[in-house]
Amino acid sequence: MKAFTNANPRDLPQAVKLAHEARVAGHTAAIAGGGSDLLGMAKDHLVDPDVLIHLRGIKGLDRVTEQAGGARIGGQITLDALSTHPLVRSRYAVLAEAAESVATPQIRNVGTLAGNVCQRPWCWYFRNGFPCYKAGGNQCFSVTGENQFHAIFGGGPSFIVHPSDTAPALVALDAKFRIVGLSGERVVPAADFFVLPKQNAARENALADDEVLASIEIPTSSAGMRSTYHKILDREAWTHAVVSAAFVLVMDKDVCRSARIVLGGVAPIPWRVPEAERLLAGQRVTPELAAQVGETALAGATPLRKNAYKVPLTKAVVRRTLVELAARA
Ligand SMILES: Cc1cc2nc3c(=O)[nH]c(=O)nc-3n(C[C@H](O)[C@H](O)[C@H](O)COP(=O)(O)OP(=O)(O)OC[C@H]3O[C@@H](n4cnc5c(N)ncnc54)[C@H](O)[C@@H]3O)c2cc1C
Ligand code: SF4
Repeated sequence: MKAFTNANPRDLPQAVKLAHEARVAGHTAAIAGGGSDLLGMAKDHLVDPDVLIHLRGIKGLDRVTEQAGGARIGGQITLDALSTHPLVRSRYAVLAEAAESVATPQIRNVGTLAGNVCQRPWCWYFRNGFPCYKAGGNQCFSVTGENQFHAIFGGGPSFIVHPSDTAPALVALDAKFRIVGLSGERVVPAADFFVLPKQNAARENALADDEVLASIEIPTSSAGMRSTYHKILDREAWTHAVVSAAFVLVMDKDVCRSARIVLGGVAPIPWRVPEAERLLAGQRVTPELAAQVGETALAGATPLRKNAYKVPLTKAVVRRTLVELAARA
């Protein structure tokens, strides 16, 4: 690993200033939340920062605050604290369950919500130093190579799947991301935070140079809201989702008033399925309707050579999760 200096800013404006100054001076800076992913990437020379800017010491960035219109969650909250927070568990179960499903207890104890959302892809080629689009190159090795775990929607020119479990939950909850940069703050809907490779092949989100994700705001939960996160793994040890689904339903007894369904593990961004959601509005959720919702959610999928199995798998996840959630009292 290359030698680097550590910076411990007192607040976010100072953090972005330090990142900017390093860049202007021709150095590289990296933002560290828990550092659980970043330090591994530095060891593997996937990033070679001259300065590591640690956000962990900044006070107040790891809290959940109830506010008019919902809750604000600081980006530095650990995934463990997020998954066990009483307000998050009671009102935003989908987010608590998604955070609880991440990796191992050790990683959840240090990994932060912002770091989870901003983690880089886990495509085998990228992580092993291949000079592909995500590494600043001009080709994708997965198209003709190993693509078992790659995208079936929204791919090209890179075919990564977005690796974060909390990201689909946040899009399903219609969260807003508060970003701090040199010229102040801006707020971006979760759905616009994640960007397709078509928009920018080298990045996974809308953060510009010298911007950091500060916190996430979630709207108030409506009466009758039920939510859940369902994740499929390829082995028993905790790892990234092969496919997953985040559901937020607003129910009136057994009738679904509205639904937001966001798939994980299928696309370079959390993948919302609005046509499938529309089928549910004003309907009683029966096994037949749930099967139809699953079919509609996967319409238009374009699997690669080795990942067609994701289509029936995701349909089944959608169908089963929907039936189970609608039946909950
Ligand atoms: C074995 C293993 C299994 C894993 N399994 C899963 C899994 O099942 N599900 C899942 O979702 N993830 C999984 N991960 C990824 C893991 O969740 C992330 O590594 C962790 O959440 C990152 O959090 P962190 O705070 O340590 O991030 P860091 O390592 O500090 O940062 C990660 C990235 O985000 C950037 N970043 C961090 N904070 C900010 C910020 N505030 N603003 C802008 N950029 C920022 C960093 O620059 C870096 O690029 C796994 C990782 C490993 C090693
Ligand atoms: S899928 Fe993306 S990360 Fe993987 S090889 Fe292709 S361009 Fe690189």
